[in-house]
Amino acid sequence: SRASEALQRLVRDIPDFPEPGVVFKDITPLLADPDGFAAVVEGLAQAGRDADGAVVVDKVVGMEARGFILAAPVALALGVGFVPVRKAGKLPHDTHQATYDLEYGSAVIELHRDSLQAGERVLLLDDVLATGGTARAAADLVGRCGAVPVGLAVLIELGFLPGRATVGDLPVSALLTV
Ligand code: IMP
Repeated sequence: SRASEALQRLVRDIPDFPEPGVVFKDITPLLADPDGFAAVVEGLAQAGRDADGAVVVDKVVGMEARGFILAAPVALALGVGFVPVRKAGKLPHDTHQATYDLEYGSAVIELHRDSLQAGERVLLLDDVLATGGTARAAADLVGRCGAVPVGLAVLIELGFLPGRATVGDLPVSALLTV
């Protein structure tokens, strides 16, 4: 597909970032390429549509920080709202909070309690699925609002890590698996 071609051409590997032994997928060259960026946004948006092209989600939730860059244009493409999941201490109103382990370190993320209505169907968005800890914690936050996580869409799935198993029965759409 156009999206996977763009990813293979425009995402670069940075060895030993942010710490020794980690090979970081750097998507900044992709974001700087308008055709590549458009192709991956359209590819990600497919996860929010059924086989007939009808939009089947009510909100797109993006994870700080690279998830924001992707989730906002995907939400606009689907004609639904964008909702941010942020690192602790950044959201100004009442939040739900989740703590989880990362590929490197640990983290606390938050979601505004009033950002999702009970029963709303939510597509989760991020750049890379690694261990799945971030996505699982974000899906947990969505559920605590009474909303329903119906899918996770990512640019790149690191297939040598247990991301899919970690997110359990949440369907994962990856434009590229490495
Ligand atoms: P996980 O929680 O282990 O699945 O890690 C996913 C989170 O860490 C996502 O928010 C990603 O943005 C980030 N991440 C992990 N590995 C990479 C990488 O190689 N490139 C870019 N982001 C990464």
